[in-house]
Formats: sequence, C-alpha cells, structure tokens
Amino acid sequence: MQVIKFGGTSIGNPEQIRIALSIIDFNKDNIVVLSAFSGVTATLCEFIRQANNSDFDTCKKKKKKIEDKHISFTNELLQSSSITKIALNQISKSIHLLEKFISRRINSINEKEILAQGELLSAKIIYLYLLEREIDVALLPALNFMRLNSKKDPDLTLIKKRLSSELKKYTECRLFLTNGFICKNHRNKVDNLGRGGSDYTATIIGNVINASVVEIWTDIDGLHNNDPRFVDNTQAIRNISYNEACELAYFGAKILHPSSITPAQSANIPLIIKNTLNPNDKGTVISEYTIPKAIKAISAKDDISTIKVKSGRMMQAYGFLRKVFEIFEKYETPVDMLTTSEISVAMTIDNNEYLDKIKTELQTLGEVEIETNQSIICVVGDFSKNNNKLIQLILDALVDIPVQMISFGASNINISLVVDAKDKVETLNILNHILQNELCLTEIQ
Ligand code: ADP
Ligand code: ASP
Ligand code: MG
Repeated sequence: MQVIKFGGTSIGNPEQIRIALSIIDFNKDNIVVLSAFSGVTATLCEFIRQANNSDFDTCKKKKKKIEDKHISFTNELLQSSSITKIALNQISKSIHLLEKFISRRINSINEKEILAQGELLSAKIIYLYLLEREIDVALLPALNFMRLNSKKDPDLTLIKKRLSSELKKYTECRLFLTNGFICKNHRNKVDNLGRGGSDYTATIIGNVINASVVEIWTDIDGLHNNDPRFVDNTQAIRNISYNEACELAYFGAKILHPSSITPAQSANIPLIIKNTLNPNDKGTVISEYTIPKAIKAISAKDDISTIKVKSGRMMQAYGFLRKVFEIFEKYETPVDMLTTSEISVAMTIDNNEYLDKIKTELQTLGEVEIETNQSIICVVGDFSKNNNKLIQLILDALVDIPVQMISFGASNINISLVVDAKDKVETLNILNHILQNELCLTEIQ
C-alpha cells in the first residue's frame, strides 16, 4: 500500500484535479490524502479573523467566495444530477456553518470546525467525481480515525486501530481517499494538524499502515536548495536524509510540514516529493541516504523573537538554565535556538502568544532584552569535515549583514543564524551565491 498526498496547489482547479487523479495507478493499493482546494484554508482563516474583528461584510464576501468556488468545481466536475445534488448538499451544510458565525465571536472549538470545511468538501467532491467515473473508491473520513492525544501529538496506536477497522469495511477496494489536515483531539472535538498539515496526515498514515512509500505531490519539482519564493535559479535536491529534510522543514521550507518527516523516518518509509504538473521528473527522495555536500540547502523561518537574559547569577552557577527553561515550559512555548555565554543566555521562539508573561517571569532571573521580527536562516550541509573553512566562508559572505545569533555544533548538518527580518532575502541570496560556487564546494569537500 502506498500513500499519495495532493496539496491544495495540485488541486487548484477542475483541470488540475483531473491531471492529479490521472497520476494514480488504479492497479495498486493507494490511500490518497487530499488537502482543501487551493486558497480555501487561507480564506477560512481570513473569515475567522474578520468575524472576530466584527467585520461582517468581509465575512460575507469570504463565505461567498468559498461557496462559489465549490459550486463551480462541482458543476465542472460532476455530470449526473443525483451526484451533483449530494455535493451541493455538502456545500450548503458547510456554508450554513459559516453563516452561523458571521456575526459572532468565534472560539477556538468553533474555529477548528470552520477550518475543517475545506478538507471535508474537497475530499467529498473528488470522491463523487471518481464514483461517477465508476472507479471503485472508498472515502475514509479522517475524523473517524485521526486522533490527537492530550499532548496534542498524533495517537499512533489509536489511529492504527481505527484506520484498520475503517479499511476492513472495504475488503475489495484498492483506492481510498481521505481528508488531510483534520483530526479530532483527545476530547473528541474537531481539531487540525496545523497549517500545511496534510503532509503530516500522509506520513502518519504511512507510518501506521507501514506504507511502501509516501508521495507528496505539489507544484514544484521537489525540495529545492533555497527558497524559490525569494531566490532565483534554485534547484531541486535529488536525495536528502530525513534529518536534513527535518531541519529544512522546521526552519521554513514551506514545501513540507515541519512534523511530517518523523513518522516516515521512524518507520523508514521513503518520502518522495513530486510535481503534479511535471510527473516524469523524479523529484526529491527523502530517506536515510544523502549525497554529502558542503552546503546542501538553505531555508528561512519568519516571525522569530530573540530573548536575551543577562545575569551575574549565571556565573559559575548551576541550575540557572533549568529555571529559564521552566518558564518556557510553563507557557508551552518551544525554544528553537539557544546560545550562551558566562553571564547571558539567548534564545529564539516562534510563538509570541505568551511573550509578555514570559518576559515578566524572566525578569525575576535577570535583565531581559527582546527583539521581535527576526528570521532564522538555516544552512544545511556536511559540516563534519573542514567545517572551519566552511564557517569562515559563510561568515565572510555575510560581513555586511548584522547577525544576531549563531548556533553550530549541536549537529554536524546544520548552522543556524538569526538576522533581522528585513535582511532575510539578502542573506538567502548571498548564501545561494556560495552554494552555486562549485569551485568553493569542490575545494572544501
Ligand atoms: P501544497 O499546496 O502542495 O502543500 P505548499 O504551498 O504548501 O504546497 O508548498 C509548495 C511551495 O513551497 C512551493 O510552491 C514553494 O514556493 C514553497 N517552498 C518554500 N521553500 C521551498 C523549498 N526549499 N523547496 C521547494 N519549495 C519550497
Ligand atoms: N489546507 C490546509 C492548509 O492550507 C492543510 C494543507 O493544505 O496541508 O494549511
Ligand atoms: Mg503544503
């Protein structure tokens, strides 16, 4: 059995949907994970934001946009009136839900329910399209098996049990569809796996069914060596290790959800990223295997805050860092990067929800300085050999960019740097120049 995931970009219009579905080999056993149609989750997010701002006119426009998009996809994809009616019913259910919230504040439970509509609708419409073409297909509702535990992590044991009982309902069937992104939490309420979470759905399913492969189909020929949104002439990486891909995904490579590597890695399942619009390209294979390269890829993560705590009490003391980290633990705020000196410690976080409270508590330990609007630049490569020369090369290249923090040494595949957000694009481009400079690379390797 293999898992195939089509992202929103692969199902952006009815023609693309037909192309995406033509990629599936119906003679093999497949579970196909579907995102919402392109742009739908973003529109639902905007609907929620404007409802909470009491901007009801904008809410109505967003609702209309969602309704029109799904109705037009339905009309273009489906022919029989009875099947079209089923799709239109599902659309009007979702639209009624939105209407209920147009003039109300939306709490976090309702928010999750609203966000789920994108994946509920896309999977249903595509399922009906395949049914109409007389393809033997079953729709497995993700809300029936995708569960989070009380720590908000996927409950793999329960997911495995529930998914296998869903699959047992259709012994003859070889093609299954399911909704990406959405799940239920340990309180049995609708929840989700975070933005871009359909990748994570695919690898979680891959893990629990021990799939032969998980394929992520998107709008680009694989994982590129730099962010194509900000740098020209980036190239697809053909082979990359799970650990390298994990660093890149965590530090901003939007093509993969940051948590999506782990379920594939722990079951040693290859993860292949491919382009729906160029299916013959071999894409990127993520596995244990990698091709070592001095600098392999660069990514950037936005909306970072740096927090520096300076205290004489740190000098020759033990237990100071524990006290600092207990504060982050209390506010469930993960620390991404860390550097220390004898009298100070600097950290980065990517979630400012509790920043004020964290600051107040840290002030009991020392002087606190905070800078928001920073970016982490992550350079992934082979830093096990000749790393002095490579670090020198990177720092020399960035001589005109004020670097706020550097982290190196925790693993030999990653150097992370913090720069002001306004310097991000320039930093990515300067580093790309080094990456392209094969002379330097061959000299170093
Ligand atoms: P999908 O809808 O298929 O999930 P996403 O928009 O989530 O697609 O991810 C694909 C996009 O990720 C690409 O179009 C590209 O702009 C962006 N991206 C950012 N960093 C990278 C990278 N290192 N390699 C490839 N794509 C990247
Ligand atoms: N539709 C969700 C999002 O846009 C999940 C996904 O596409 O992976 O974030
Ligand atoms: Mg995505």
